[in-house]
Amino acid sequence: MYNPESMFADDFINDDEIMKTLAYADENKDNRALIESILDKAELRKGLSHREASVLLVCSIPDLNDRIYSLANQIKNDFYGNRIVMFAPLYLSNYCVNGCVYCPYHAKNKHIPRKKLTQEEIAAEVKALQDIGHKRLAIEAGEDPVNNPIEYILESIRTIYSVKHRNGAIRRVNVNIAATTVENYRKLKEAGIGTYILFQETYNKESYLKLHPTGPKHDYCYHTEAMDRAMEGGIDDVGLGVLFGLELYRYEFAGLLMHAEHLEAVHGVGPHTISVPRVRKADDINPDDFDNGIDDETFLKIVACIRIAVPYTGMIMSTRESKSVRERALHLGISQISGGSKTSVGGYAEDEEEDTSQFEVSDQRPLDEVVRWLVGMGYTPSFCTACYREGRTGDRFMSLCKSGQIQNCCLPNALMTLKEYLMDYASPETRAAGDRMIADEIGMIPSENVRRIVRERIDRIESGERDFRF
Ligand code: SF4
Ligand code: SF4
Repeated sequence: MYNPESMFADDFINDDEIMKTLAYADENKDNRALIESILDKAELRKGLSHREASVLLVCSIPDLNDRIYSLANQIKNDFYGNRIVMFAPLYLSNYCVNGCVYCPYHAKNKHIPRKKLTQEEIAAEVKALQDIGHKRLAIEAGEDPVNNPIEYILESIRTIYSVKHRNGAIRRVNVNIAATTVENYRKLKEAGIGTYILFQETYNKESYLKLHPTGPKHDYCYHTEAMDRAMEGGIDDVGLGVLFGLELYRYEFAGLLMHAEHLEAVHGVGPHTISVPRVRKADDINPDDFDNGIDDETFLKIVACIRIAVPYTGMIMSTRESKSVRERALHLGISQISGGSKTSVGGYAEDEEEDTSQFEVSDQRPLDEVVRWLVGMGYTPSFCTACYREGRTGDRFMSLCKSGQIQNCCLPNALMTLKEYLMDYASPETRAAGDRMIADEIGMIPSENVRRIVRERIDRIESGERDFRF
């Protein structure tokens, strides 16, 4: 039976409740009065239930759809301003014992080159990432207890944090590894990780079992309950996501929001981030083999409805998406993007890449170009990692977020970290555009005192100092 407070996956992601939600949404997709009342509630910026948001997702009334997009845009601006946080993935190893049918790293793929970075190779990758300007990484590794045990992941995290190259430093390591034990999550927490990210892939149990025919990931409940174990292990920032294209998108959307409701009900804090990947082409993977692919318009509506349903949750979009889709999604709620990404093992430091990519990158622009593009659209690229370093995580972060106080930190930190980027890594053209933006944006900081401090610090960054934060 559906129960968001239960610790059992089948109860908090309950198939019967999702089917009822989809039926309810279908019945009401042109119910103007109901949709208007849901939008009125959403205007309060306190979020929506999975049922309410599911109605918005299928709303077929054009002027109300316009209202959905415009509200998503307003909520984005209210909570995140014009900042976009930048990050890069770092693939450590593509050894994997699982059989996920949508991923080229599945164990039966015998022709993809397998590779696991040594600590020296990781240091080389990190230097290459620092030389581009990145400060925040998401590490990725397949599940393989022999090749990629938790000790390897922990050692890799230590290596990443230890590399200080010129003015570079990786200040936040988010971790995307397979579901594991409370004890291992505790070790990850002690290693100083930022967010623990684990994509559900699909919330539909029947499909999940077929899409994960072999390996430990086949255990749907163990996978779905991973975030509870992570939180029990002390990790209070967790990132959810589904792989859109595997199952009916409306099913995934409802499941995703039910998962967020479950975390809030049990742990008092919802997901820190939600990612919205779509199935992409890769070695031995053809997206057309999956029946549930979604077009760009549907995809953007999902982004807008997630933004409205969980206003406090950051939303991440990777380079799986093209420049034009990313551009539109930024207006609708995406708050974090990757740039200059490589999705292969060792892809940053090596000249000649073996094809070990997990998926084909659609947006292939270098980070400098992505930064200039963002600035050109009026967005402030941010390399901020302050919250986790200042202990603002979990419910502490969420309460600052909900009260709006986090805004006193975000814009100043965005401007100072952008300034560092411009000084150390940007092309002259990007630097000129970024400096103009910083000059304009400082004036937008509400507190005169904070404005004064930021001006002072920007001068000190110009003189060579680094790593200021609020
Ligand atoms: S999705 Fe992850 S677990 Fe599945 S095959 Fe790929 S790397 Fe392995
Ligand atoms: S201050 Fe915190 S919430 Fe704001 S951008 Fe930095 S890390 Fe993110």
